[in-house]
Amino acid sequence: QTDSISQRHQETAADVIPPNLKLYIGGDWVSSSAGETFETRDPTTGETLATVQAGTREDIDRAVEAAWTAYDETWSGYSAAERQRVLEEIAALVEENREAFARLETLDNGKPISEARIDMELVADHFRYFAGATRVNGGETIPSGDGQHVQTLREPYGVVGQIIPWNFPLLMAAWKLGPALAAGNCSVLKPAEETPLTVLKLMNEIDDVLPDGVVNVVTGFGPDAGEPLAKHPDIRKIAFTGSTEVGKQVMTQAAEHVHDITLELGGKSPLIIYPDADLEKAVATTITAIFYNTGECCSAGSRLFVHSDIKDEFVEALASTAEDLTVDDPLLEETTLGPKVTEEQAERTLEYIEEARDAGADFLTGGDVPDDEALAEGSFVSPTLIDDIDHDNRAVQEEIFGPVQEVFEWTDYETMIELANDVDYGLAAGIITNDITKAYETAKDIEAGNVWINQYNAFPAGMPFGGYKQSGIGREVGYEALAEHYTQTKTINLALE
Ligand code: NAD
Repeated sequence: QTDSISQRHQETAADVIPPNLKLYIGGDWVSSSAGETFETRDPTTGETLATVQAGTREDIDRAVEAAWTAYDETWSGYSAAERQRVLEEIAALVEENREAFARLETLDNGKPISEARIDMELVADHFRYFAGATRVNGGETIPSGDGQHVQTLREPYGVVGQIIPWNFPLLMAAWKLGPALAAGNCSVLKPAEETPLTVLKLMNEIDDVLPDGVVNVVTGFGPDAGEPLAKHPDIRKIAFTGSTEVGKQVMTQAAEHVHDITLELGGKSPLIIYPDADLEKAVATTITAIFYNTGECCSAGSRLFVHSDIKDEFVEALASTAEDLTVDDPLLEETTLGPKVTEEQAERTLEYIEEARDAGADFLTGGDVPDDEALAEGSFVSPTLIDDIDHDNRAVQEEIFGPVQEVFEWTDYETMIELANDVDYGLAAGIITNDITKAYETAKDIEAGNVWINQYNAFPAGMPFGGYKQSGIGREVGYEALAEHYTQTKTINLALE
């Protein structure tokens, strides 16, 4: 069967890998100035998928220059209506090519095909949302009443830098490009080195729609391409999504030229189950919270707090549902859990699991790799539920970013909230109860930028998303991203007398 997985992946790759895989600068496909390349691998088979360019400082310089040329010569002259039309066309092209984009994402990232298709729907809808938002991006008139007329304009920055991670490669690109382009900026975008292919495919598809240089894509490694971008004297803003560790470095890099910054970083989010919860629905929501996208969600509900009245019954049902997940080739329709994005990421997840095991934790299920010869070449980790673990264990405090959840029992509300907030992160949270008053009270007590009630990991376009504490600065996805983070305010004060 290994052969058949490998064969299926090779045939799919031949269908969906786009023709141009070089750096996309000023509307041209160019080689890295250092002449270096690297391989992106298929995490299901361990085989090489494609060879892409390893961009460097010189390539970032070229890309920033091309972006300014595009801004000065074309893009800044586009009206809001013209930018709207461009964004609508991008949305339509993603929709038309949805299946190919989804298959390519599954090959490069390892996510189940059913989930990759959802990503692509969200990508198209996101571009469409920001197409509409171009028309409402206006300033304010400030009442002053003393012979002055004070007005603000929201102007684009010009050229912005954008660095994205590997967990939702094309969706993260859409989160960045949508508001940047809607506001009238040009972009230099650096995809994650693990998953460069869908962003390159997007540029293949939209090459005729965008004026040259409005979006430039430089593939490459963080220190070689990401750092020179964040530090570049000629960008006016850097937007970064990735780990908190690297986010801190990017913040320092951005400080060199006082760039505006948005940071979307890691999380270790609590999911709180009240005793009145409908058991079946609560289990299904918990499965989505931790195992969606193989646990590689910044928002993953990785710490579960279940009320003591229902804990035994709940964890039994949860463990048996987790055991029923289909861990298999992510190109298969029925697969619900794919491999981790790389072998290194799988090893990192397994190290946390070992640490919990060494500390004497109890495994309700998982804690290992699947016992299936056909998956031996892939970077799979079994769905894992950990009980009886100290809340200050490293596996609880740090983001594992894999299919691993730690379970805690609660009785006293105040103690539970204290523990739920007792991490450095504050990205998301989930609450499951039929008592809407309690749900709102709990939502207010949680230190998190996003709280889901009776659902989890829902990301409609327009919903501001971002973190409290060390989970980040600023908000993406909603109109706020455009208005607050991709424009700068100019105040004009006219004397009326
Ligand atoms: P990462 O921090 O390792 O890398 C993210 C990006 O930064 C990549 O493009 C990488 O090449 C680049 N980079 C690495 N070192 C750099 C440096 N020194 N200077 C500049 N750029 C550098 O993160 P990852 O492993 O790709 O992604 C997983 C992380 O992303 C998780 O922590 C996850 O929670 C987070 N994430 C957050 C959100 C959110 O909205 N808050 C969304 C998705 C992912």
